Amino acid sequence: MTTDHITLREGEFWRSVPGYADIDTKTFLDHRWQARNSITKPGRLKPVLGNTVPDSLFSELEQAIIRSPMSLRISPYLISLINWEEPLNDPIRKQFLPLLSQLKPDHPCLALDSLDEQADTPVPGLVHRYPDKVLFLALDTCPIYCRFCTRSYTIGPDTEHVEKQALRVNRERWAQTFEYIEQHPDIEDVLVSGGDAWQLRAEQLEQIGNSLLSIPHVRRLRFATRGLAAMPQKLLTDDQWCNTLKTLVDNGRKLHKEVAVHTHFNHPNEFTWISAAASNRLMELGITVRNQSVLLRGINDDPDTMRLLVRRLGYHNIHPYYVYLHDMVTGVEDLRTSVATAVKLEKAVRGTTAGFNTPAFICDAPGGGGKRDIHSYEYYDPDTGIAVYSAPAVKPDQLFLYYDPIESLSRAGQLRWSDTDEHKLMIDEAVALARLQMSKNS
Ligand SMILES: *Cc1c(COP(=O)(O)O)cnc(C)c1O
Repeated sequence: MTTDHITLREGEFWRSVPGYADIDTKTFLDHRWQARNSITKPGRLKPVLGNTVPDSLFSELEQAIIRSPMSLRISPYLISLINWEEPLNDPIRKQFLPLLSQLKPDHPCLALDSLDEQADTPVPGLVHRYPDKVLFLALDTCPIYCRFCTRSYTIGPDTEHVEKQALRVNRERWAQTFEYIEQHPDIEDVLVSGGDAWQLRAEQLEQIGNSLLSIPHVRRLRFATRGLAAMPQKLLTDDQWCNTLKTLVDNGRKLHKEVAVHTHFNHPNEFTWISAAASNRLMELGITVRNQSVLLRGINDDPDTMRLLVRRLGYHNIHPYYVYLHDMVTGVEDLRTSVATAVKLEKAVRGTTAGFNTPAFICDAPGGGGKRDIHSYEYYDPDTGIAVYSAPAVKPDQLFLYYDPIESLSRAGQLRWSDTDEHKLMIDEAVALARLQMSKNS
């Protein structure tokens, strides 16, 4: 029996970062201090880190950010969780601070909006893909920006390469969304995301929550936020926001409706004594919390890390809900893994702990097929790295293809992808074999 999952970073760990050496606990726990001191320009990192890292790291960061589809934004909290003695391999550094020498060329089949959300969008910022649930993109900012964001087509400030489709806080746009939901009695479930619910002011959270709860056929609300992992301080020092969330949960409960929080931890190092205090507060407020991770190469794609993450979250009353195969978005090819890796990890994790604390491993099918169980492909060739999924309940007549990163393939597979004439052949072959398999099974 190991107890690694209950052993957390304690004390004033941030003081080992030169720029935070004089910051006391009260200041570090203030969410406003965290937001004010978040870093959005590579040049601002140097005064914080001083001479602990070589200068080449800052220039590499600067050059990688110019190529990135996401802007830079990282909280002092996350900066202080990075092991600056070994930054190249650090699982938190890799998620937020890209380095030029670690970037990889994009796979030829990547896209900016790989899930084709914009095709299932009846009202700006509302994705209606599944019959009984919708995704409401309430705003386009987050307390921090993950390099691998699936929604890099809209989230955060424009970058050198991507002019974002803005989805700002806008009460008229929200009103259109509520009207659409009212007019569609099949919709029972609303996922409020973005962007990040952490960024909504208390009165905005309240307006969205109560407007949706007052629609009779809406039975479930979830607020999605990376905040619990990236800036847990908010739950300890923003009483107005926490009380609003509690009011919504209580209002929902009286109406026999669930209001939950969905969060996003990827690595056990993201969970400290501060996260534990924040999760405890949510538990005391009576809020269900679920976690959605993204599978990231060199970060959480090994069984020990994933098992530790799952147990650490479960211990603190956060249900590990999903682990997503990395979406096929541009600019972050260094972080993608293969379907084969996800299949192996799922086998390694299941059985570790309670079934309800065991995440489903998911491929969100590129092109809008929706979430599929990683094992449920109709056909998969680890040599070409092409997996073919169907989605009978979402888009019954289509097939959806996921492509493993080329680096993860065998020599033979890599050679085929290096020849552009082979691309269509490989794809047609995979689709034909998938259709054959499906006809045998039906
Ligand atoms: C993920 C997602 C949902 C919610 O799906 P669950 O499997 O219920 O968590 C809803 N709409 C869209 C478009 C999504 O991508």
